Amino acid sequence: MVNSVIDRELPTTESADLIELTRDLVARELLPGADKSEAVGTFPREVFAQLGELGLLSLPYPEEFGGGGQPAVVYLQVLEELARGWATIALGASVHVLSCSGVAEFGTAEQRERFLPEMLGGATLGAYCLSESHAGSDAGAMRTRAVREGDEYVITGEKAWITHGPVADFLLVAARTGGEGSRGISTFLVPATAAGVSAGVPERKMGFRASPTSGVRFDEVRVDIERRIGAEGQGFRIAMAALDSGRLGISACAVGLAQAALDVAADYAGSRTAFGRSIDEFQGVSFLLADAAAAIAAARQLYLYAARRKDAGKPFSTEAAMAKLTATDMAMAVTTDMVQVLGGAGYVEDHPLERYMREAKVLQIVEGTNQIQRMVIARSLKPQRPAG
Ligand SMILES: Cc1cc2nc3c(=O)[nH]c(=O)nc-3n(C[C@H](O)[C@H](O)[C@H](O)COP(=O)(O)OP(=O)(O)OC[C@H]3O[C@@H](n4cnc5c(N)ncnc54)[C@H](O)[C@@H]3O)c2cc1C
Repeated sequence: MVNSVIDRELPTTESADLIELTRDLVARELLPGADKSEAVGTFPREVFAQLGELGLLSLPYPEEFGGGGQPAVVYLQVLEELARGWATIALGASVHVLSCSGVAEFGTAEQRERFLPEMLGGATLGAYCLSESHAGSDAGAMRTRAVREGDEYVITGEKAWITHGPVADFLLVAARTGGEGSRGISTFLVPATAAGVSAGVPERKMGFRASPTSGVRFDEVRVDIERRIGAEGQGFRIAMAALDSGRLGISACAVGLAQAALDVAADYAGSRTAFGRSIDEFQGVSFLLADAAAAIAAARQLYLYAARRKDAGKPFSTEAAMAKLTATDMAMAVTTDMVQVLGGAGYVEDHPLERYMREAKVLQIVEGTNQIQRMVIARSLKPQRPAG
């Protein structure tokens, strides 16, 4: 249920229209289908097709290549609205945008012209292949290799935990072209139909069951040298840049999810009675709602602050890590408290709250666990001492 309208500061009437369009889509298409799809674990490809047709899968990219030409502050608020309706859709849109970032930000003019129109056109879906089973937080320890043979690279290895692994059309893949460590990694754009690419069986997850996550194997997959994005050895930098932006996407998803939980709980608390009164008249309940509203508003402002820095061309890695840490810890706490507001009804599938709580958990893990976000933030606090 979406029963509160967030009064957003938007830079243009076009961006205000985009938010309206998204709210309408959420009410008509996302909210009605979410519970069932998540219960049975079916991937809603048709919803992504609709998002693509509406231009909502490529908002932050240049219009000349089929993108929406929107600043991060607008794109992320659209994601937040999507997450209020169905987190799988918002997460999927964020992962797709992440998968396009390598080409959009590090590709040559020829690569952008050749690949982006199809990637941004809305008919295809991307996956971002960084993690391996032994290399998650320590992504620089990856073993997937890309060996140069003439005008091709031959990629061999196995990626793990890939969102959209079994359903993606293209893959942004990090693979080792040099020695050990983060400097030996390069980035490739690989069609999912390339010979030798195969997805594993989807993981059986706690939440986000409609969003398929699987391993992806590369068995001597041959890709044209023109599909290497950036220079050899630049892959880790490309991956980290993608994650800085991706973390803002996860922050927006977390805020939208928490807002959805608050909306349901506030509505329930206004109609449920105990001891002859509606339960929102008890301070023990209304303060849970008030704390949630304040924490959501604070997390929203933090991701928007980081987004404004990105839009202004300023460094935003630390701020993105702060936003991801704050928003996802907040979403876990808020969804847990909102289950409490519903009492027993919060613990069963008649209401979406138990699902929201399960979905919040993974946001503390993906795109760098919250321990890793703390490491990024702590690194920025180290005093800069002059050399010598
Ligand atoms: C549903 C889902 C979808 C995902 N989608 C994708 C995707 O699309 N693409 C992709 O590439 N990956 C994806 N991932 C992988 C995700 O990014 C990793 O799970 C995450 O980075 C953590 O890696 P790990 O699971 O190997 O945990 P580990 O790295 O083994 O960490 C285990 C624990 O140790 C802690 N830890 C590790 N190192 C440190 C340290 N230095 N200091 C303090 N604590 C530390 C971690 O915080 C964690 O609590 C997905 C994961 C899930 C669950």
